[in-house]
Amino acid sequence: MKKFLTATAFYVSFFYVQDVNAQQTFGFGFMNYAKEQCVSAEQTRFIKQEISKNQKKLRLATTSIDPVLFDWPLRQKGVNDYSYYAISNFVDLDASSGLRDYNCGTRTYNGHNGTDFFTTPFGWSKMDSNNVEVVAGAPGTIVYKSDGNYDRQCQSNNLNWNAIYVQHTDGTVAWYGHLKTGSLTTKSIGASVQAGEYLGVVGSSGNSTGPHLHFELRSSTNTVIDPFSGSCGNTNSRWLNQKPSYDFSVCKLMTHSGGPIPYPNCPTTTDDLKAKSNYVNGETLYLALYLRDQNGQNGQLKIVKPNGLVWQQWSTTFSNYYASSYWWWSYTLPSIADTGTWKFEATISGKTYETFFNVNTTQTPCPQSRNASTNINQITTQLNAGQSLTATSIIESTANITFKAGNSVVLSPGFQAQKGATFWAKTQGCP
Ligand SMILES: [Zn+2]
Repeated sequence: MKKFLTATAFYVSFFYVQDVNAQQTFGFGFMNYAKEQCVSAEQTRFIKQEISKNQKKLRLATTSIDPVLFDWPLRQKGVNDYSYYAISNFVDLDASSGLRDYNCGTRTYNGHNGTDFFTTPFGWSKMDSNNVEVVAGAPGTIVYKSDGNYDRQCQSNNLNWNAIYVQHTDGTVAWYGHLKTGSLTTKSIGASVQAGEYLGVVGSSGNSTGPHLHFELRSSTNTVIDPFSGSCGNTNSRWLNQKPSYDFSVCKLMTHSGGPIPYPNCPTTTDDLKAKSNYVNGETLYLALYLRDQNGQNGQLKIVKPNGLVWQQWSTTFSNYYASSYWWWSYTLPSIADTGTWKFEATISGKTYETFFNVNTTQTPCPQSRNASTNINQITTQLNAGQSLTATSIIESTANITFKAGNSVVLSPGFQAQKGATFWAKTQGCP
């Protein structure tokens, strides 16, 4: 199976919200897929032949009459994101050239025999950091494995993949394909594996355009089995806990140094995360939300200051369906920002997701002279000058601020302390 990763429909607009000093920009993008073969007919023939040869050698008995059920074949390692994958293609249940997935939809491509789980956001980075492991969905015996094939494919090809094949007690065989080179379990053909046991790392070997797992299940007679049950598919699920067809989640919230590019276009096969969690006052803050299965949800978003007060809040409708999408916004932090730990929070469909970032001050602790011209709305802050401080700023109703200078604090035309503000002027040296 093959999937094509690109950020399309990307746009940026400029507008102002609430704090006129905090100009906001935003962007949106989604992962797009080409509906092309993951495993060619020739490759499938070869794989079946190799499995068959090993089955003859191993002489594995079919001991279970009941169908073997599967746990999820992926897990996160070393990170704890809200989620880390999305499904691009299910099994195509339409024998003709049409498309039909188990849920009566078309989330598949013609002739697709497996389920494609791609890692998101920043799949290449996850691959490089071994963040998403492929694990055995059910206990069984390794009946074939192949490794050593190039694993950074990002466009159509007919090269071979790295994969591992596990036979279960009911005679079915699961194919775990597109693995990262050299990541496969050291266990040999004939060795047994437990459910949840490590098999490899999600990669992009074979006919693939980005890191993903192709999970394919076949009966003892090589009939493709869709593990999902639904109104246009099987009556009984092969999953121990089948997840919803549309399984909305925030995968991750992140703060960045610029607009993120979570799905770079081929030939780029590395991710620049632009990760940033430490800012200084006046700096531009980039906040991003990475979603799975967005389908018209509404989100309430907030930036919360260290004192718990909301600095910015806005809402967005995540229109249309995308398996994987992202939204980002930028704000200019106040020139006199509250220092400490800030929070970026999203509430969507009754669930709240959050991430944190720090803001520190870069102000010269105490210059000889200073002009205060920016409007001030912060609670409890202070501006210092060794000799003189001249102010033309508006002290807004929410502010509590002290101007301190060694010789003089001059309030020039334009200066104003609004009703409700607390304002002190002190002729006192630094600090
Ligand atoms: Zn596939």
